[in-house]
Amino acid sequence: MERVIVVGGGLAGLRTAETLRAQGYRGDLTLVGAEPHAPYDRPPLSKAVLRGETDDTTVAPDLDGLGCTTLLGRRATGLGEDLETTEGPLAFDALVIATGATPIRLPGDGPQHVLRTIDDARALRAALRPGARLVIVGAGWIGAEVATAAAAAGCRVTVAEAADAPLAGAIGAEAGSRTARWYAEAGVELRHGVKAASVEPGGLELAGGGSIEADLVVTGIGVRPETGWLEGSGLALENGVVVDEGLRASRPGVFAVGDCAAWWSARFGRRLRVEHWDVALNAPDAVAANLLGGERVYDAVPYFWSEQFGRMVQYAGHHPAADTTVWRGDPDADRWSLCWLAGERLVAILTVDRPRDLVQGRRLIASGAAVDTGRLADPEVPVRAT
Ligand code: FAD
Repeated sequence: MERVIVVGGGLAGLRTAETLRAQGYRGDLTLVGAEPHAPYDRPPLSKAVLRGETDDTTVAPDLDGLGCTTLLGRRATGLGEDLETTEGPLAFDALVIATGATPIRLPGDGPQHVLRTIDDARALRAALRPGARLVIVGAGWIGAEVATAAAAAGCRVTVAEAADAPLAGAIGAEAGSRTARWYAEAGVELRHGVKAASVEPGGLELAGGGSIEADLVVTGIGVRPETGWLEGSGLALENGVVVDEGLRASRPGVFAVGDCAAWWSARFGRRLRVEHWDVALNAPDAVAANLLGGERVYDAVPYFWSEQFGRMVQYAGHHPAADTTVWRGDPDADRWSLCWLAGERLVAILTVDRPRDLVQGRRLIASGAAVDTGRLADPEVPVRAT
């Protein structure tokens, strides 16, 4: 193996380059990134950057020290025998695809912000002025964090959500509805069952008529895996690059990792594509090992956190197959957790300012051990197996 190319200069791409060297790869290593910036961290973009506490989240990597040729501002445009890029083809022996995801935008000619890049975050922060009328489309993770920062900056914030509760798509309406009062307490107007149609000059047009006037519209309705450039390459694509449990794509020598990869999880018996920082940080270890001839399986329990309205919200696992839920603590109080079980096994946990529950719960999910639901419901008892 003489030439490895990593496409995508985000966390997953950077970690792949680092772990390849750490695991002993000595050949040519090239990182191709569409953005002009060195790899940086995205979670602070909707937190410290919007709050004005920092302007730079670069993950200070020593790419030169790694012996990694970094081609920034260069976009991969196709995959044939070589990698096609905006500045010509690059030959490789192995390729790692780490091109992340791209925010979904609404139609319309009005000014519309999304939040994915450091440039997006700087532009949005500059627009968060006291008294500005801000409409956020989507009460998901990003919507809640932007609402937190915008309300603190003195904006008049309305969140327009199509479902009946915040976070309904991510964690279900039962849990999501418990977060609705956080919006009200922060002075944010939350409107449920509101379907956005387009962003026009002057505000948000609603499906079925009506509009919400705004100086600023932020769209936070989710992302798509950034795989359009792979159409026609012959690689299997289905909600991301289809990869096996070792993150190998359908063509030998090609791997995918991070937000763009849909991997096979034996633990959950289905393909998962997880848009979380923890995956971008840790899954590259398996890619590097397997690229160098190993047989490493990546099947970690997914983990995510969000900081919203002064609370630390954390989630581990995957709950769609759950058949029971168990609350730990009063969900109308400040600190609580919600556990999802499939039979006697814990499959997911959501915690609000209960980090210990999260750590114990993630360990329990990983173990697959049975739990006693009576004990689980007692917030004074640790989350552990029967
Ligand atoms: P990305 O970080 O998206 O990097 C992909 C890179 O590839 C990008 O730089 C892109 O420009 C580049 N690229 C795309 N196409 C091409 C191409 N054709 N050629 C070359 N380069 C290309 N997760 C959490 O767990 N907790 C949080 O609190 C949290 N907060 C977040 C807040 C924000 C605002 C955002 C945007 C994300 C947040 N996340 C959070 C998610 C987390 O940041 C992502 O899961 C993680 O960044 C994914 O890393 P990645 O390397 O797979 O993709």
